[in-house]
Amino acid sequence: MTMSVNEEAVDVLLVDDRSEDLLALSSVLARPEYHLVTARSGSEALKRLLERDFAVVLLDVMMPTMDGFELASLIKQRERTRLTPLIFLTAASSDVGKIYRGYSVGAVDYLPKPVDPDVVRAKVAIFVELFRKDRLLRRQAIALSEAERRERELQIMELKLSAERRYMNLAEAIPQIVFTADPSGEISYANRRWVEYTGIEPSEMKGKSWLQGIHDDDRASALRAWEASVKDGEIFEAEFRLRRARDGAYRWHLCRAVPERDETGQVLAWLGTATDFQELKQAIRARDEFLSIASHELRTPLTALKLRVQGMLHGKELEERTRAKLESVSRQTERLERLIDSLLDVSRITTGHLEIEPEEIDLVSVIEEVIERYREEASQSGSRIDVDLGEPVRGVWDRMRMEQVLTNLLSNAVKYGDGKPVSVRLRAENGKAELSVSDHGIGIAEADCARIFEQFERAAARRNYGGLGMGLYITRQIVVAHGGAVRVESELGAGSTFLVSLPRSLQR
Ligand code: ADP
Repeated sequence: MTMSVNEEAVDVLLVDDRSEDLLALSSVLARPEYHLVTARSGSEALKRLLERDFAVVLLDVMMPTMDGFELASLIKQRERTRLTPLIFLTAASSDVGKIYRGYSVGAVDYLPKPVDPDVVRAKVAIFVELFRKDRLLRRQAIALSEAERRERELQIMELKLSAERRYMNLAEAIPQIVFTADPSGEISYANRRWVEYTGIEPSEMKGKSWLQGIHDDDRASALRAWEASVKDGEIFEAEFRLRRARDGAYRWHLCRAVPERDETGQVLAWLGTATDFQELKQAIRARDEFLSIASHELRTPLTALKLRVQGMLHGKELEERTRAKLESVSRQTERLERLIDSLLDVSRITTGHLEIEPEEIDLVSVIEEVIERYREEASQSGSRIDVDLGEPVRGVWDRMRMEQVLTNLLSNAVKYGDGKPVSVRLRAENGKAELSVSDHGIGIAEADCARIFEQFERAAARRNYGGLGMGLYITRQIVVAHGGAVRVESELGAGSTFLVSLPRSLQR
C-alpha cells in the first residue's frame, strides 16, 4: 500500500469576527489541498480545534469578547494544540513585540492586515508542508512499531512451537504412555506408546472414548477419580487395567496426572502418564495372599495350643514351678496370637475387608480393662502407667478395635519408652473423644513421623527393638474407619505423644 499523505487535504483554521475578512482570506487560500475551516469567534475556534488537528491557525487579533491573544493563550495551554502554529493577523505593528514575548512553545508568526495574498499563501504553505512531513513521520513510526510487534509475536510463537516440539519428542521417546488433557478433562494428546498399546488412535479419543481402553470393572472408578481431580484441580492417581491391543491381555497400569497452572493458579492443562506395573502388582497380590493364608494357617494350631495350656493351668495338682512355667508359656502364646492377628488384619485391610462392628460403649471402661490386663507386662519392663480418665466417654465404636488401638499405642509406649513412666489420658471435647498416650523414651525424628503409620514402616533400629511395623498402620486404619484421625508429636530422645481423635457417633 502506498501512502497518499501528500494528496490528503490538510485542515487550516481561519478565525475572524468579520465575515468579509474571512471570505477574502478563504478566497486567497482556496486550493484543493487545503480544507479551510472558519470560525467567527474565539469560542467557536476552540470548538473546531477540539474536532480536528490543524496544520495552522490564522487568527485575527482584534475580536470582541475574546481577542486573538486570549484565544492564543488558551490554544497554547491545551495539550493537544500547544504545538499548533499560529499566525496572527494584526492591524497595528505595535502588537508585534507582544506576540513574540507571549509564546515560548510552537511556531508563532504574524501578518499585517490587510494581508498580502502572496505572503499569506507562502507562510501557510510552509506550515502545511511541515504538518504533512510530521504526519508522515508519525504514521511511519506507527507502522514501524506495528511491524516490530508482529516480528516479536512471531518470534515468541516460534519459541513456543519449538518448546512444544521438544516436549512432544520427549513424550514420544518415553516408553510409558503419556497424555495431555485440557482443563475440562478432554484428552488433547496421547503419545505413540498409547496408540501402540491400546490400538486407539488420538482421533478416536473424543469425549470419553479413551475409557474404552480400560477394563470394564475398573472403568467407572477411573472415570469417577478423573472427574473429581478435574473438578478440584487435584493430582490424579488411579490404578486400572488397560487392554493390550496386540493380544487382548489386560495389564495393570498406574496412572498419574498433574495439573499445569498459570501464575494465578488457573489450570491450563493436564499432563499425565500411565505405567505398566503388572509384575509389581502381581508380586504385591502374591505377598498379600501369602500373608492371609499364612496367618490363617498359623492361627489354627496356636488356638489349640492356647486351649491346652489354659486347660493345664486350671488343673489342680500343679507344682508351683510348673505353674510359673505354664504361665510364661501362656503369655508367649498370647503374644504370638497378637502378632498373627495383626498379620491377619493387614491382609484384611489390603484387600479392603477391615470391618468394624460399632455399638454404644464407654471408652473409659474399655481403657481401664486394657490397662489392667497390660499392667503386668508393663511392670516387667519397669514402666509405670499413669492414668487420667475422668468422666465416662460414651460413643459408638467397635469395642474390640478400640482395645486394639489402645493396646498398640500402649505396647509401643512401653517398648520404646526407655522404662520411664507412660501416661494415658482421655477426655470428651467438642463432640469427640480425645485420647493421648505419652512416653519419655527414644522419640521419633520429624522425618519419620508420617512414614511410621504406613504398612511395615519402622524407624527404630532392628537390633535393639523387634517388630514388624504393623501396629501403627492397623491403628490408623481402625481410627480412620471410625471417621477419626491419629497423629504423633515427638522429639528424638525426649519421648512421644500419640493423639487419637474419634467422633462420638459414626459419620457418613
Ligand atoms: P513396630 O513397633 O512393630 O515396629 P509400629 O507400627 O507399632 O510397628 O510402629 C512403627 C514404628 O514407629 C516403630 O518401628 C518405631 O520406630 C516407631 N514408634 C512407634 N511408637 C513409638 C514410640 N512410642 N516411641 C518411639 N518410636 C515409636
